[in-house]
Amino acid sequence: MLNLILFGPPGSGKGTQSLRLAEHFNLAHISTGDIFRSEIKNETPLGLKVKSIIERGELVPDELLIEILENALNKLQGKAGYIFDGFPRTRRQAEDLDKMLSHRNDSISLVVALDVDEDEVVKRLLNRAILEGRKDDTEEVILNRMSVYHKQTAPLIEFYQGQGKFVQVHGVGSIDDIFNSIRDTVMTQM
Ligand code: AMP
Repeated sequence: MLNLILFGPPGSGKGTQSLRLAEHFNLAHISTGDIFRSEIKNETPLGLKVKSIIERGELVPDELLIEILENALNKLQGKAGYIFDGFPRTRRQAEDLDKMLSHRNDSISLVVALDVDEDEVVKRLLNRAILEGRKDDTEEVILNRMSVYHKQTAPLIEFYQGQGKFVQVHGVGSIDDIFNSIRDTVMTQM
């Protein structure tokens, strides 16, 4: 199985690139942010629980992620593996993901990080706020999401470097060029 994690700060282009990678490598796309947005839209009990957390730019508690992941992992349906987008975001999530995959005799193949500097991601997020009207894309919330990323998610870089699975790709340029460099990086590691 080919199991990829697309890693990077909010606004680094994970969503766009992971959809393309999912199609190219025939992977099941697991975006926890998309799952939460859909739960909120449908006003499910989970959606109601996480709405205000997400609107503040905080992380949803790890316990809730584990449940969602178990569900999502069961939807492999003939795919060649998974691509995780926006997950894991904490050390605990990364460890739980390793456990869940190993119960399935599987593991993470590679973590590809999109390298984009902070000014650029904040600029992109403010732009997206105008285009998509996401409630968590106001300036105050964006800055909070960046600080949450640095405190809680960036330490995962070391975690995956320790496993020898971490690679970085330059994340600025055209969508096609960035896609090509991620694809080539994945191919050389396969
Ligand atoms: P995203 O679209 O990936 O930026 O996710 C939007 C928001 O959903 C995040 O700012 C968090 O509030 C929440 N979220 C998504 N994925 C996770 C995760 N793995 N752990 C905790 N919260 C998450």
